[in-house]
Amino acid sequence: MSNHLFDAMRASAKSGESIFIETIDGQRWTYADALRLSGQIASAIDVLGVRPGDRVAVQVDKSPLALMLYLACVRCGAIYLPLNTAYTLAELDYFIGDAEPRLVIVSSKSRADVERIAHGHGAIVETLDADGAGSLMELARDESADFLDAARAPDDLAAILYTSGTTGRSKGAMLTHDNLLSNALALRECWHVTAADRLIHALPIFHTHGLFVATNVTLVSGASMFLLPKFEPGEILPLMSRATLMMGVPTFYVRLLQHEGLNRETVANIRLFISGSAPLLAETHAAFKQRTGHAILERYGMTETNMNTSNPYDGERRAGTVGFPLPGVSMRVTDPATGETLGPGETGMIEIKGPNVFKGYWRMPEKTAAEFTKDGYFISGDLGKIDEAGYLHIVGRDKDLVISGGYNIYPKEVEGEIDRLDGVAESAVIGIAHPDFGEGVTAIVVLKPGATMDEKAVLNALSDRLARYKQPKRVIFAEDLPRNTMGKVQKNLLRDRFSNLYMPAS
Ligand code: ATP
Repeated sequence: MSNHLFDAMRASAKSGESIFIETIDGQRWTYADALRLSGQIASAIDVLGVRPGDRVAVQVDKSPLALMLYLACVRCGAIYLPLNTAYTLAELDYFIGDAEPRLVIVSSKSRADVERIAHGHGAIVETLDADGAGSLMELARDESADFLDAARAPDDLAAILYTSGTTGRSKGAMLTHDNLLSNALALRECWHVTAADRLIHALPIFHTHGLFVATNVTLVSGASMFLLPKFEPGEILPLMSRATLMMGVPTFYVRLLQHEGLNRETVANIRLFISGSAPLLAETHAAFKQRTGHAILERYGMTETNMNTSNPYDGERRAGTVGFPLPGVSMRVTDPATGETLGPGETGMIEIKGPNVFKGYWRMPEKTAAEFTKDGYFISGDLGKIDEAGYLHIVGRDKDLVISGGYNIYPKEVEGEIDRLDGVAESAVIGIAHPDFGEGVTAIVVLKPGATMDEKAVLNALSDRLARYKQPKRVIFAEDLPRNTMGKVQKNLLRDRFSNLYMPAS
């Protein structure tokens, strides 16, 4: 039996000497380097006693070696468990306790602290640093690169990826070899990715987007990537003349637009800009088009399902939508109360079925069962509508829906009206427990530098733009909105912070 995911990756590299990764300081890693190093690391992991099906938790800085480590785990048949480098020790304790990895790999600087936690959960710890130092690398250097890849079937687990925790405690999504491979192949087809492509990769590598979409699509296409530790417009703009693709989150595009170096000439070599992970404002889409001539292609995915939809490569990329289901993916919008499939233009729950959909939540069989319909669709928790032309519009998240006085209020609609006001930089609308209304619509507003506006001015401006029940009960001004590494607003933190806003003082 073969190794379902790695065999496909290995087959794609046309010539071992073609470039896989280039770094900002000019280091180049060929496909042959990747094969050799991932083989040596896989041998070292095997020597440490990791067996197919064991979990390997990884919290290391982004680097070419970190990607070699991911490949090594796939080759060993281990279940790769990437962890955000920003996680605190308490958070690590939760993930290690929940996933029970056999091996934990961290950077040398955090070894001592992590060891205390990992040993408590029966795991061993090794280190890997971006510059090639670390105990795992020392072991790997002495190993042969001729590693015999572990046999893995399509349905075997390749990774456990914890959800961002935007709506609550992170859950471990179990992803199979075929979830990852089928999605990479579908995206390669949709976005016409070939060995001639060179991707700008400035995303973190502990999320679906940066790890699976960016890396796997590159690998199954035999393409190459510029691997950058973080998104810095001043560093990225000069690279664009040598790149053909960029995958980003909406904040990347907002920041590029703020840079004076962005123009038609600087992006002339790029054939496709892609955005996902959070909503791309229609204003950003329009401004980018005007400045560069490029219509950003927006797509929609999530930890549990990899990518679900994409705007078309050749057809109209419709701003404010996330396009059509990927090949092999079925999607429908249903009435959350009755489960009935809704028609065009009607808002309901987005449900997804296909080879991209995960196997379930790690050690949460009841939660898993509750998130699937009887006919096997995953209940995404996102609300949306499909327009007459078939484009999916994401309206918001089920958990963010505000129910006030018996009415359903979609925060995105209210945020859209507030963001349009002169002087407003951005806003987040949440529901907070209210003694009379159930939940009170509450707006957290960030003003542009130098702008002055008070609560009354915002409420007055909204009074003829929104039906009365949608108007905020309170407007609170803030310096900024709490966001996670993918730029998503963490509304759960805002709800916690203002939970007593409408409660009578006792
Ligand atoms: P948790 O489930 O723990 O709350 P999370 O759902 O935020 O975390 P992710 O899986 O990283 O974690 O995020 C997926 C969500 O991101 C989707 O369900 C959707 O709400 C949002 N999303 C992704 N792409 C887009 C997009 N293009 N437009 C709007 N929302 C998007």
